[in-house]
Amino acid sequence: MITEAVHATLQEIAGGNCFHEPITLVAAVKTRTREEIEEAVRAGITDIGDNRVQEFREKSIQVPGVTRHFIGRLQTNKVKYLVGQCDLIHSLDRDELLTALEARAAALGIVQDVLIEINLGEASKGGYPLRDGLSAFRNARKNHIRPIGFMAMLPAEGDTAMLGDLCDRVRALYDRARAEFPDVKYLSLGMSGDWRLCVAHGSNMIRLGTSLFGPRPVQ
Ligand SMILES: *Cc1c(COP(=O)(O)O)cnc(C)c1O
Repeated sequence: MITEAVHATLQEIAGGNCFHEPITLVAAVKTRTREEIEEAVRAGITDIGDNRVQEFREKSIQVPGVTRHFIGRLQTNKVKYLVGQCDLIHSLDRDELLTALEARAAALGIVQDVLIEINLGEASKGGYPLRDGLSAFRNARKNHIRPIGFMAMLPAEGDTAMLGDLCDRVRALYDRARAEFPDVKYLSLGMSGDWRLCVAHGSNMIRLGTSLFGPRPVQ
């Protein structure tokens, strides 16, 4: 099942997004076993994304040969477990976290890649408001932190026109940042329920869990 779902998804995204940019598929691996993750990797998954630092440390770090992403809310006291271990942190959602990330990366003498998380109106989620996205991006360029794009989550409810319009607005932010900074290359937008809409509106990185692995066990 996992193998078939990965193959079908990779085939479906092979032509790229609406701008013919390549799409990076990140498997969202929360709650999945190491065996399930490794099956996905054998099927062609190159990138995996965790929500919880504990799962990242205990499981994902052991999966060989993959690019590692962190896609969940990150507490400042857990930054030490990710910086330098994780290829891309998607969830830079507040200045306090930026300060902690920069301090840790400086202590290690490395540069950590991050995405700026944009909040599209879900009060329960983190992130900078859309209108502050460009200044948050500029501010995140530190000696040891390199922002390379944006991440967002669409609201769970909404009609296609409204959600498509939200994607277009995040994409416009991404394009403005890209015009200013050539490092910009990822717009991480799209989960199992909405990724087709997102790539039709300019996303070039999608994070899929249930559509690859099946329903998650109730926690
Ligand atoms: C769980 C999760 C996903 C994947 O969600 P699905 O609906 O299972 O595809 C994507 N992004 C984030 C931040 C997540 O927490």
